[in-house]
Amino acid sequence: MSSPAAHRSNVSLALAQREAAWLAPYAMHSEESRGRRHREPAHPLRGPFEIDRDRIVRSAACRRLSCKTQVFTGEMGDYPRTRLTHTLEVCSIARRLGRALRLNEDLIEALALTHDLGHPPFGHAGEAVLDECLAEVGGFCHNRHALRIVEELERCDRRFAGLNLSIEVLEGQQSRIDRRAGEAVPLEIQVVEAADSVTYDTHDADDALELRLLELDELLEVPLWAEAARRVRQAYSDLTRGELRLAILQELVDWQLDDLLRGAQAKLAGIESQDEARQAGVTLHASPEVAEQKADLEIFLHDRVYRHHQVMRMRSRAQSILREMFHFLAARPDLLPESFRQRALLLGVERGVGDYLAGMTDRYAQQQYERLGAGRD
Ligand code: MG
Repeated sequence: MSSPAAHRSNVSLALAQREAAWLAPYAMHSEESRGRRHREPAHPLRGPFEIDRDRIVRSAACRRLSCKTQVFTGEMGDYPRTRLTHTLEVCSIARRLGRALRLNEDLIEALALTHDLGHPPFGHAGEAVLDECLAEVGGFCHNRHALRIVEELERCDRRFAGLNLSIEVLEGQQSRIDRRAGEAVPLEIQVVEAADSVTYDTHDADDALELRLLELDELLEVPLWAEAARRVRQAYSDLTRGELRLAILQELVDWQLDDLLRGAQAKLAGIESQDEARQAGVTLHASPEVAEQKADLEIFLHDRVYRHHQVMRMRSRAQSILREMFHFLAARPDLLPESFRQRALLLGVERGVGDYLAGMTDRYAQQQYERLGAGRD
């Protein structure tokens, strides 16, 4: 990395001074950003990662997350998390972790908002079917598709495609795809990944309880929930079932963040720069005790929730819709919207159709399926 001084013009003096006073030496400082593919002048009020955040929030792909499945489709009610509310919870938890470690919260927010941007309709069920349909042209992976969205499909300037995000945000997303095992990446990236894990483990159980796919007593037999319940009961007595559930959910987040922070602070003592943190291989991990209990919870959720017959039935229906639409449109690319017809000419019909389908919300996919009559033959 070149000297920070070479990039001073990328940020206002006020931001550089604010970050110098607050951020830890191992945090990403905005003035150290390596900039963007297409050079832009510094903004008088916003730092580079704030600009990234604003562009992602204003993108159509981000708005469409509101109608995309996290785990449970909208047909199962309006309580469960959508991909957008999941992303907002990840942002909030990641910023909390980042602030405690005095990391760059603007970068964390931009990374968190990007992390699930590439999800197709119907969650991992949709991803699996697109991967199957696109197997001969490189498959489909939501992490890679997020990069396609921010680099090719969205626009912020008429002169070029993409959102022209900072290199650090693009590299952060890229590292979700091709990181070597054990490779230490910047702490802002690690914070988002840790927050993602805390978030989905907690809210998937909460959603499953609300949908009555599980009962509270079953979860209380899972060690992570049993320990959280023990802590809650130590602090409060006479809780109703509803209050107990709510308090456990809060305790699960607080306890896991506390565990992560304690581990990180011990590893980061005396670390004076980002490079030093990377060379020392500083990684953000749950303690062995919490990690083991989280793994048990994830096995439980996999068996009891993600494979629940109601979820599997929705999954099967969603996969049929996407699979049939894929084959229908691959045979009739003339029915694609103009921009995706152009992508099909440039990148091949399969990728053009895949990109079109991946951008759809659950609801739009269902509407288009009905409109096209894709499954009638
Ligand atoms: Mg996520």
